[in-house]
Amino acid sequence: MAEQHYTGGCQCGKVRYEVTADLDRTMSCNCSRCAKLGWILTFVPAQRFTLLAGEDELTDYLFNKHAIHHLFCSTCGIESFARGTGPDGSQMVAVNVRCLDEVDVGALKPMPVDGKSL
Ligand SMILES: [Zn+2]
Repeated sequence: MAEQHYTGGCQCGKVRYEVTADLDRTMSCNCSRCAKLGWILTFVPAQRFTLLAGEDELTDYLFNKHAIHHLFCSTCGIESFARGTGPDGSQMVAVNVRCLDEVDVGALKPMPVDGKSL
């Protein structure tokens, strides 16, 4: 697999986006939030992510160091992506791979990340 174009969004469809991502590089995280949600995520530079619909539908949730804006649909509650800042200060988007259209998540091999310790 290499970088490919995907579309995705929340459950009810109010939040929709397109993204270019390499799903050979996915992560599962054991932090207090990701562990409960069962996220499989991949980080992409913000330029490779376009929110097509739903900016006004998003509710922002912050915890721990407030480094990542966890954005969930205020109608259906699904967090299909999050916005954050990389170590070098660049804008990043964490995409919930489970929210991408037509992706076989069972075929992915997410790398475990020890977010609990961060
Ligand atoms: Zn929704």
